[in-house]
Amino acid sequence: MLTNQIIRSNRKTLSISINENAELVVRAPNRMSVQKIQDFINEKENWIKRNQSLIKARLKDTLEDQNTLLYLGTLFPVTKTDKDSKKITFNGKEFIANFEDKEKSTISLKTWYKNKFKEVAVPRLFYFADKHNLQVNQVRIKEQRTLWGSCSSRNNINLNFLLIMAPLKVIDYVIIHELVHTIHKNHSANFWNAVEVIMPNYKEAKHWLKENGYKLRAL
Ligand SMILES: [Zn+2]
Repeated sequence: MLTNQIIRSNRKTLSISINENAELVVRAPNRMSVQKIQDFINEKENWIKRNQSLIKARLKDTLEDQNTLLYLGTLFPVTKTDKDSKKITFNGKEFIANFEDKEKSTISLKTWYKNKFKEVAVPRLFYFADKHNLQVNQVRIKEQRTLWGSCSSRNNINLNFLLIMAPLKVIDYVIIHELVHTIHKNHSANFWNAVEVIMPNYKEAKHWLKENGYKLRAL
């Protein structure tokens, strides 16, 4: 059985999980041998296969459902138009688009999402930065396969525009998470305390992302 990711740390026990892309993630103690890890994986093969196929099925459902689109955490219906227009419009209740050409419509949908994300998220980032006196260098908006956001050593923040499909509080959580990295370059207790000061209910948003993140990446 193929392991997609082994994360070593000073933990004492071995654990396996399946991430939202149906990949196997193994968390192992620093010194545990590869053989021991492999034995454990082999032992859990049925569990792994069962859970991977569940997540794969879930991913497939999301990809094939073209009748609704996620925006700010809500599913909106899509009304198809015959007009050969590359433009996607949203009237607050529904999306109107010509989704005949799947490739073209994915491109225009991504453009729509990206522009909306810039409109919604960037002002929020600067609002929180000003309010909590956090220094940001550059902000870039892009699509990333595995990350929702990142913050470099020079305090350049990258945000994944697919987050526009998530509820606003989830967008705020990712923004605040990356902003706090401008002072704490790790995930220490001090880091999480600082996140909690700015967003007391951040755990709900973090949980939402863990449970629903795959829907955002299905585009
Ligand atoms: Zn982080």
